Amino acid sequence: GQIDRYAVFGNPIGHSKSPQIHAMFAEQTSQPMSYEAVLAPKDGFATAVAEFMANGGRGANVTVPFKEEAFALCDELSDDARVAGAVNTLIKLDDGRLRGDNTDGLGLVGDLLRHDVGLKGRRILLVGAGGAARGALLPLIRAGAQLSLCNRTRAKAETLANLIPGADIQVVNGESIDTAFDVIINSTSASLSGELPALSTHAINSRTVCYDMMYAAAPTPFNLWAKQQGAAACIDGLGMLVGQAAESFYLWRAVRPDSKRVLMTLRQSLLLGN
Ligand code: NDP
Repeated sequence: GQIDRYAVFGNPIGHSKSPQIHAMFAEQTSQPMSYEAVLAPKDGFATAVAEFMANGGRGANVTVPFKEEAFALCDELSDDARVAGAVNTLIKLDDGRLRGDNTDGLGLVGDLLRHDVGLKGRRILLVGAGGAARGALLPLIRAGAQLSLCNRTRAKAETLANLIPGADIQVVNGESIDTAFDVIINSTSASLSGELPALSTHAINSRTVCYDMMYAAAPTPFNLWAKQQGAAACIDGLGMLVGQAAESFYLWRAVRPDSKRVLMTLRQSLLLGN
């Protein structure tokens, strides 16, 4: 019969690694499926998705700048998508309705656990309060993290801290931290411009694991800084990228791919510059 179609929608989309990742997942697990990159016009996301789903599409990933629009488009939402206010995974249900999920946060948590970074009962500092931070909130709380937030614009951190009823999330001032955290996660885009979020050096001691959601061939500015402060380990966001893809793949196919092998391949091509 027909093979199932999947895609990633974004604008721009040329640099997305998702087609490469999902092609490797499909091959590993012998799933009869295709996965393509779709450049949707800035004002044509809903139309592009509708057309894809009407032509054999079974699900899709959504990336910048359409994650919030995808959220608004769905007939049904997971808890993670609801708290994130954004959808990175679309699933076409058997009755034709569209379900939205957000696997970014679970991809992060999975990558931390894979590195043997404990979260349950640990003091975790999440730096930043943009879309990536918001997507990480519920998965971190579910993993049992004792969560603190800080952000350049403090009011945005206050808003995030109030998104999960019953969760006890502290908002702190990054520059006046005086006790080390077990884990610090940089979710800001500061590294993109070679900058550092304003953080007290007291936030880090020799047991602190630092995680930058950004990734590159060379260590990110945040991870370089963290290493200089004596952090126990510095991890970049490539594993989170593969992790969110693996969670999407599982939602669509009910099969768990070997993320570790795909991560090793991606790391190699990142280092080689392709
Ligand atoms: P947003 O634009 O939604 O948020 C940006 C955040 O960064 C805000 O909190 C902003 O603070 C802060 N920020 C920006 N510049 C600085 C600076 N110079 N100093 C301090 N804080 C700063 O972006 P996203 O949340 O969508 O994405 C953030 C990063 O996460 C991206 O760089 C991306 O690489 C990464 N990411 C990685 C993923 C992965 O799979 N590895 C998945 C998703 C994202 P303020 O509120 O004050 O403006």
